[in-house]
Amino acid sequence: MTTGTSSCIFCRIVRGEMRAEVVYRTPTAVAIRDVNPQAPVHVLVFPTEHVDSLGEAADPGLLGSLLVTAREVAAREQVDRRGYRVVINTNAEAGQTVPHLHLHVLGGRRMTWPPG
Ligand code: 5GP
Ligand code: ZN
Repeated sequence: MTTGTSSCIFCRIVRGEMRAEVVYRTPTAVAIRDVNPQAPVHVLVFPTEHVDSLGEAADPGLLGSLLVTAREVAAREQVDRRGYRVVINTNAEAGQTVPHLHLHVLGGRRMTWPPG
């Protein structure tokens, strides 16, 4: 299910109505630097088409391409060999604050486990 996209910040970035530091694009996804980075490398990968969350994503091909895009971002940001983390916060309890499916690509520092 999708909600209206006129006020969605990631849809607004896709349409060029809001500024963002775009680090990579594919025909179906955009990668931007997070405005409030939690690691030296913190990039958000999201589909150009609005999808509320992982739970609402119906297209396995789209999900696969988002993972490939996250992997490509990690390589471009030169954290692929050291290590990086890909996170999808899904719904409120997991801390999803932007209701447009996105992958966090985090790297450049040692990560702890379990996550907070
Ligand atoms: P969530 O909490 O939904 O998993 O992740 C949303 C992320 O989007 C947060 O890490 C937050 O810092 C980031 N964010 C929120 N608004 C903006 C924005 O306007 N520009 C950018 N570049 N990142 C944003
Ligand atoms: Zn959206």
